[in-house]
Amino acid sequence: MKLFGSSGIRGITNRDVTVDLALKVGLAVGRKNKSAVIGRDPRVAAEMIEHALISGMVSAGCDVERIGLVTTPTLAYASRDFGCGVMVTASHNPAEYVGIKLWNPDGMAFDSLQQEEIESDIDAGKFIHIDWDRIGKITEDSNAVREHSDMILRNVKPASIRVVIDCGCGAGGTITPYVLREMGCEVITLNAQTDGHFPSRNPEPNDANLWMLKKAVREFEADLGIAHDGDADRMMAVDENGDFVSGDEMLAIFARYECKPGTTLVAPVDTSMIVDDALPDSRVIRTRVGDVYVAEEIKRSSAAFGGEPSGSWIFPRISYCPDGIYAAARLVEIVQDNALGVLRRELPKYPTKRGTVVCDDMKKSRVMDAVKSRLVPLGTVSDIDGVRVGMENGWVLVRPSGTEPKIRITAEAREGVDELYMMAEKIVKEFLQ
Ligand code: MG
Repeated sequence: MKLFGSSGIRGITNRDVTVDLALKVGLAVGRKNKSAVIGRDPRVAAEMIEHALISGMVSAGCDVERIGLVTTPTLAYASRDFGCGVMVTASHNPAEYVGIKLWNPDGMAFDSLQQEEIESDIDAGKFIHIDWDRIGKITEDSNAVREHSDMILRNVKPASIRVVIDCGCGAGGTITPYVLREMGCEVITLNAQTDGHFPSRNPEPNDANLWMLKKAVREFEADLGIAHDGDADRMMAVDENGDFVSGDEMLAIFARYECKPGTTLVAPVDTSMIVDDALPDSRVIRTRVGDVYVAEEIKRSSAAFGGEPSGSWIFPRISYCPDGIYAAARLVEIVQDNALGVLRRELPKYPTKRGTVVCDDMKKSRVMDAVKSRLVPLGTVSDIDGVRVGMENGWVLVRPSGTEPKIRITAEAREGVDELYMMAEKIVKEFLQ
């Protein structure tokens, strides 16, 4: 049975992701590892799922260290001393979701092969229940956040700007305000109290959800606004004018600092043409959508930097795990010398339109086949992930979401982006009937 999507196991609590499933995942992980570290985001169901995972792992003889409520990058960093890391999180999804994501000691999420091994062990019921006197030990460690903060602080210079940070009641509240204050910034926090109901805003840090941050940056006359998703592997920003910085702009700005001429940048197929235009002296490799595919390609091609416009930035000298806290600290370093609004104005601009059409998971592949047949005659087609058609004036990408019952449409064009988007949307809706 397929359990893992592009971001691990994720679904609605007690419907898709249950304690029975978590116990089996724990048993499968525990059979293959002598030790594991486990953390969780503040979701209401996270601790319940954590307990089931722990029971499975120790029952199979694996020692488990608990590091409590942490961000995903904190857990990924802590994994360096263990056989693997286990994070209970549903990232940016709404409060009713919960999920499980597995990590290797080098900060790389489990790849498709490792995930398939777990799936087939679960399908075959290939579990071991060890003798009573050899079951794994459960220990607790409260130093993980401090160790992760120290690592980041060793890698950034002091800064003294005024920053507003919106943690969205997610796990970022445990670490990012502290790190930025230690750098020397004046930090104003919004929603830094963790709360699994996410009462302040939807955990996804997009333009529409960050109205409070944009307002606060203007009212406090801050130099920068920072926002995280629920588990703070993502980071998005608001410039000194209180304007949301798009993911494509953010990717291009980071890449300009990280990619020296001749180096490689990795980005998914839905990334804007501005990235290619902003980095004429770098090679740009495009991958399937999903931060794990970007991370794998960064490792394979020894790239200097990579990221996803959704807010995942991967700095391979720090980790293969997207680290929203390090990204925030790195952006503060950049903004200390250059206003973000000015950096944005240096970038080319092409209108982009992104949207989704609701589509039952069962129908996705049938709809995609039909959409592909319709789009092929229109231009150069790439099907590395969904269907991307490049035309003279721009491109359009239609792809099924890996985590939600939706089909995503992205269009970018020098002119006529709305028409291009609507054309694609019309085709998708036609085949949904
Ligand atoms: Mg996340």
